[in-house]
Amino acid sequence: MTVFFLIICLPLNIVFHELGHVFCFIFMKIEMKKICIGPLMFTKTDKWKLAYSKHNNKCYVVPKVKHNKNKEYYINSIRKSLIFGPAVSFFFLCLYLVYLGINYNLLLNNRIEMMLVLFNIAINVSILHGCFTYNKSSVGDIYLFIKSKNHECILDDYFYDLL
Ligand SMILES: [Zn+2]
Repeated sequence: MTVFFLIICLPLNIVFHELGHVFCFIFMKIEMKKICIGPLMFTKTDKWKLAYSKHNNKCYVVPKVKHNKNKEYYINSIRKSLIFGPAVSFFFLCLYLVYLGINYNLLLNNRIEMMLVLFNIAINVSILHGCFTYNKSSVGDIYLFIKSKNHECILDDYFYDLL
């Protein structure tokens, strides 16, 4: 049972993070072309289709690059969406930390629940850490958010590569 929970904890936290991006795009009325969560890849041509992703260690949401929106609005929306994923992860991290703080004494007597809470904290710390990274295989949300402040064209380049 514990193993089962541990196995679903990781994808669940990642899904929440990606949903942060997705809901922000929906809210800002920016069309999306691709939502990738590990091996699951949803792509949109005229309607959404599910496919298997070869790069199954990657998670990202790609907006429509060719759009008819005002450029400033488009860039602002994308930057908001970039920060909304990490914001959701940060929210969950705080939630687990508060839960740990409030129930610390109870959790000391319940190893399984303690392990689950600590595991969820570790996952969200690791997701947030990933948001700052920049290397060949991954570009973090927050890294991209900061870089795109004065160089908005890097957003187009980044999303073109993912399409
Ligand atoms: Zn993200």
